[in-house]
Amino acid sequence: MKIIENQSLKNLNTFGLDVNARFYTEVESIEQIREVLQSAKFKNTPLLIIGGGSNILFTKDFDGLVIRMLIKGVEEISCDDSSVILRVGAGEIWDDLVKYCVNKNYSGIENLSLIPGSVGASPIQNIGAYGSEVKDVFVKLEGINLTTGEIEFYNKEECKFGYRDSIFKHELRNKFIITSVFLKLTKQLKINIEYEALKKEFGNLDLSEITIKDVSETVSRIRRSKLPDTNVLGNAGSFFKNPEIGEEQFSNLKQQFPDIVGYTSKDGKIKVPAGWIIQKCGWKGKRVGNVGSYEKQALVLVNYGNASGKEVFDLSQTIINDVETKFGIKLEREVNIF
Ligand code: FAD
Ligand code: NAP
Repeated sequence: MKIIENQSLKNLNTFGLDVNARFYTEVESIEQIREVLQSAKFKNTPLLIIGGGSNILFTKDFDGLVIRMLIKGVEEISCDDSSVILRVGAGEIWDDLVKYCVNKNYSGIENLSLIPGSVGASPIQNIGAYGSEVKDVFVKLEGINLTTGEIEFYNKEECKFGYRDSIFKHELRNKFIITSVFLKLTKQLKINIEYEALKKEFGNLDLSEITIKDVSETVSRIRRSKLPDTNVLGNAGSFFKNPEIGEEQFSNLKQQFPDIVGYTSKDGKIKVPAGWIIQKCGWKGKRVGNVGSYEKQALVLVNYGNASGKEVFDLSQTIINDVETKFGIKLEREVNIF
């Protein structure tokens, strides 16, 4: 296993930020991870695991060891007439897994088509889109506890999944390397086109006329039309989470902004699209130096070319302050800051 010193991370984060890792390595097996963890050289070195770098903002060089997860493999570990359980290596590309499932007619993740990044990162923020989340198909995951060096399994409950959230963003942040993820897909068609954008695309078609391939292709097409291509314009998708507020605050805001949109969640909170709020504050399509809010979706912050991570971070702070002043809502960053 090769350890590289002063590795540029420019091509390893979708913001395209030009930062360096003091040390860098790639791992293809649990044994290789163990080798790194046991090496005396890295005993007191900060570690950072990355997959596709599509949910990370580097505000400075990383003064430690960056480990790129490349453990591969998709294995059907059990299967019956109605479902299949897959064990997937954390280094598999998420969208390749979606394609694998769609081609086999395994239903459950087609709404999550074209989300960048690795399978191993999918539980970290419980990736979600178009009314589906990874937790809906999640069984358990395997990984290495960095404190003890032991292999551990976490089931769905233990992962404490929430809205774009899990235990791996809190108690286990940077303390656990996910090495494989177990997902249960169904063989019975379960089409979910609840989101307006999908309903519109499928018009009056009966659900029985729609395949998961149709859903996957439609989601991919909509996403391509709305989101910036990371190869052209650096970004990490939605920079902020959609805030959830109480009913009273929502109805007060409704008086002030009659066109405000809200979606009631199971716990009675109301989710307000952060993109709408940011747009209302006048940020959509606005550029500040090398960074800005994307013209088609205000929630996406972009790097126009030579931005530093600090510029992106500062813009995000200005937007947070502005939204708090105008709406009394404190936006939370969804992207992981290092
Ligand atoms: P990275 O960015 O490499 O890492 C993210 C975090 O997870 C870091 O804290 C890292 O340390 C940690 N991590 C990564 N791998 C491991 C591992 N194996 N073990 C332990 N920790 C690990 N997200 C959504 O939820 N829904 C969307 O629809 C969506 N759309 C996007 C669209 C675009 C254009 C972009 C750029 C991003 C989008 N995202 C979306 C965000 C992102 O794609 C997901 O969060 C994805 O899961 C990140 O995967 P990654 O491998 O790139 O993670
Ligand atoms: P959109 O369809 O314009 O909707 C705007 C927001 O309203 C979304 O954020 C969504 O919340 C919410 N919403 C819409 N219909 C809803 C419904 N029926 N029930 C509950 N909430 C609803 O959003 P978009 O920007 O084009 O994105 C489409 C989907 O892709 C969304 O699910 C979004 O989360 C996902 N996406 C995520 C990222 C990321 O980086 N996290 C980037 C791009 C797209 P939710 O966000 O909770 O779904």
